[in-house]
Amino acid sequence: MPKKLAAGNWKMNGLTAGLDEVRALQAAHPEPSVGILICPPATLLSAVAGALGGTAIAAGGQDCHAEANGAHTGDISASMLADAGASHVIVGHSERRGEHGESDEDVAAKAAAAHGAGLTAIICLGESQAQREAGEHLAVITAQLAGSLPGGATAANTIIAYEPIWAIGTGLTAGPEEIAEAHTALREALEARLQDGAEVTLLYGGSVKGANAAEIFAVPNVDGALVGGASLTSADFSPIISALE
Ligand code: 13P
Repeated sequence: MPKKLAAGNWKMNGLTAGLDEVRALQAAHPEPSVGILICPPATLLSAVAGALGGTAIAAGGQDCHAEANGAHTGDISASMLADAGASHVIVGHSERRGEHGESDEDVAAKAAAAHGAGLTAIICLGESQAQREAGEHLAVITAQLAGSLPGGATAANTIIAYEPIWAIGTGLTAGPEEIAEAHTALREALEARLQDGAEVTLLYGGSVKGANAAEIFAVPNVDGALVGGASLTSADFSPIISALE
């Protein structure tokens, strides 16, 4: 069985005061039966990892550069994230693909860099509204998967997050049938590509909340969620974790 994971992506949100939310989440889930991950902005990573040190909750980055070091002003390498206390890194989020022009090839290189630094890569993919309306969504996401998975990917070092772009931050959640169709296609593609593809954790992301989490987690091949807005406070994130347990 794939490992279950509730992952929070804080995106460009969170100041030092946000550490109180991390401590509250830890207090609410001292011995979780599922994985819990917080991906704060890079400025808070060390502090969040420090606050969570020795607990069952992990910390991760939101992006990394494909190279280990060098003249790349403003960028952060996977080994730097690991050094700051991260165990995971999100790569290929649609906001990175869209706002920073990242291609599948770029995402695969970043995931490979993550693996090289000992991090688990959370590779994101998902179709746009126009692609869904054109009936291209399964072709789009399976092509993204094929292009974004680096050589050497295994269920131990790679997680896939299906995040339909039209459901991110919009309050529109994909319905259970839509999620099932996408996750089944991704599972089949993972099984065809990787020896242990059946064991890869497959997350859904896009307007996941306490109110819809249980319905989403009941969908076959959904092993957890990548949560944006509802991961920023313990009050909002905790019910999602409880729904996965
Ligand atoms: P929301 O949960 O805010 O829709 O964001 C989803 C997401 O993009 C997580 O990476």
